[in-house]
Amino acid sequence: MSISHDEIFNYVKILSEAVGPSGREYDVRRIVIDMIKDFADKVWIDSIGNLIAVKKGNSSGSKLMVTAHMDEIGMFVTHIEDSGFLRVQPIGGVSERALVFQRVVVKTKNGKTYRGVVGLKPPHTIKPEEARQIPEIRELFIDVGASSRDEVKNMGIDIGDIVTLDRDVIKIGSNRITGKAFDDRVGMVVAIKAFQSIENSNIDVYLVLTVQEEVGLKGARTAAFAIDPHIALAIDTTVANDIPGVPPNEWCTALGKGPAIKVADGRSASGIIVHKEIVDKLIEVASILNIPYQLEILAGGTTDASIIQLNREGVPTGVVSIPTRYLHSSVEVADLNDIANAIKLIKGFTESISSDWIKRLRGLEIK
Ligand SMILES: [Zn+2]
Repeated sequence: MSISHDEIFNYVKILSEAVGPSGREYDVRRIVIDMIKDFADKVWIDSIGNLIAVKKGNSSGSKLMVTAHMDEIGMFVTHIEDSGFLRVQPIGGVSERALVFQRVVVKTKNGKTYRGVVGLKPPHTIKPEEARQIPEIRELFIDVGASSRDEVKNMGIDIGDIVTLDRDVIKIGSNRITGKAFDDRVGMVVAIKAFQSIENSNIDVYLVLTVQEEVGLKGARTAAFAIDPHIALAIDTTVANDIPGVPPNEWCTALGKGPAIKVADGRSASGIIVHKEIVDKLIEVASILNIPYQLEILAGGTTDASIIQLNREGVPTGVVSIPTRYLHSSVEVADLNDIANAIKLIKGFTESISSDWIKRLRGLEIK
């Protein structure tokens, strides 16, 4: 199996450019249905909005849940000024540093979209101290080209409408791509492409494209309860901080060095400490298939895996991460080789595990 860079690029472009902040993942979900329905035995949407697809294995019984989250960070419109500017509140981990002077999309409850920009005073009129300060989100405003509150209302924009960064995906260099919402649309591409390509699995694969990860791992929690998986894998982006100003001893991952096999995440490893046998198995699969990989310990942030591992009596859960620079900005950068290799790793892992192996991971009878 070999998936071309063009194929990956096209999938990333379609998914990344879709508007889908937490709780409003509809557009992304609609696109994904077409990508997976011909490859699944069953597809459904659950009550919180997760999209779930099942591919039955050769000898049914054991369930592997593979997740990637559909939502991206964004904002809610909270106020419309008399002058026509919008005020906003964040959805998820929005950084003001990544917002100022950016283009955004405002999507109304009736599905209309408008372009806008996050404005700020120009350098000509501010003191040098102010130029160095990053404003708080409540001080920021969005300019949608309207000159009054009535004009904004007539456009159909209202309180509660959603706002996301606006950026098209492009290639830079020979193997790299840049855009917004790679967290976790790139992870989705990996999960979807792996799901499409799985041929010979002993176990049933439940692909779950989750909602509301950025606001507290919510979709993964309810999906895990409903599916009751025996084992799980979360696919997400992780910090690639191999950039000037960060010494190599502080790098979490580096671009182009392969997908990352997570060992632990969260402050003081409070997010997840991945089941050792899953880490070992992923390393073994990568070694057999000649896939480059990096081991990842992320000091802050976590993934859907942290909540899935605590489902019912516990679920051995691993994480495969795609190294990504400048996370939660409109200029995230990922490497096409890392993405292609992550797809191979997930497919290889899925096809190499058996019900017996999973059973052993899930507990040991002493007497
Ligand atoms: Zn994520």
